[in-house]
Amino acid sequence: MIRNIKKHKRLVVCLLFISTLFSFYILWLSPHYTVPILMYHRFGYESNTLFVTPENFDRQMAYLKNKKYNVISFDQLVSGMKQNKKPRRHTVVITIDDGYKDVYQYAFPILKKYAFPAIIFLISDYVDTKDDFVSWEEVKTMSNGGIAFGAHTRRHLLLTTLTTEEELRDEIGGSKYIIERKLGIPVDYFCYPSGVFDDKVKTMVKNTGYKGACGIHLFCTGNDTTYELKRIKITNSDTTKPFNYLSKLSGYYNVFRSK
Ligand SMILES: [Zn+2]
Repeated sequence: MIRNIKKHKRLVVCLLFISTLFSFYILWLSPHYTVPILMYHRFGYESNTLFVTPENFDRQMAYLKNKKYNVISFDQLVSGMKQNKKPRRHTVVITIDDGYKDVYQYAFPILKKYAFPAIIFLISDYVDTKDDFVSWEEVKTMSNGGIAFGAHTRRHLLLTTLTTEEELRDEIGGSKYIIERKLGIPVDYFCYPSGVFDDKVKTMVKNTGYKGACGIHLFCTGNDTTYELKRIKITNSDTTKPFNYLSKLSGYYNVFRSK
């Protein structure tokens, strides 16, 4: 009899625990779900955390493929947000900043292999002019191969340090104009250099005609969702520590991280 009561108690405690967890998920956590926007910079073998080796990038993409993640374009993400569409779980967006040559050399063939869309944010004045950066020819090849391009200013200057309206317009609007002219397709998305922006910068980005913009977690308040899209940096260690990668892909990573 006593054993039965103890068993009963345990069951009730267990049920209470499960229902509390379930309520927490449904009422609080689930509404905080956001599509993870993965952020990459460089590909190769340097120890700098901006670099991901081609092998690790391939493994990370293979994981998305094998686990049937829905890899969508940046445009699909923003369009869905503007239409208030609830994002499907297991959805991911891939972004790459700056437009270094190693993106063309290493990342592009892997993205093509998995047929994943991605957006590369170009520093327009560096294309064709700086040694480490892609050429317009390479940009065109990638564009024809399913890669989208956004603007990341003309010279990667910290936009909040620019003093005149003209300078700001030149960096934000100039980069859009140059890429559009070279590719002959609209450039609808912008990426703040080093993720830094303020209201003036954001207003300029909107007035220039961009449909959305992204930065990094640190400076995005999330109050203006499509112009303050938070991203998640992916590194080599996400391959060696699968839990890291899984938590970054969960859709709740931004809720719990502090930086
Ligand atoms: Zn950058």
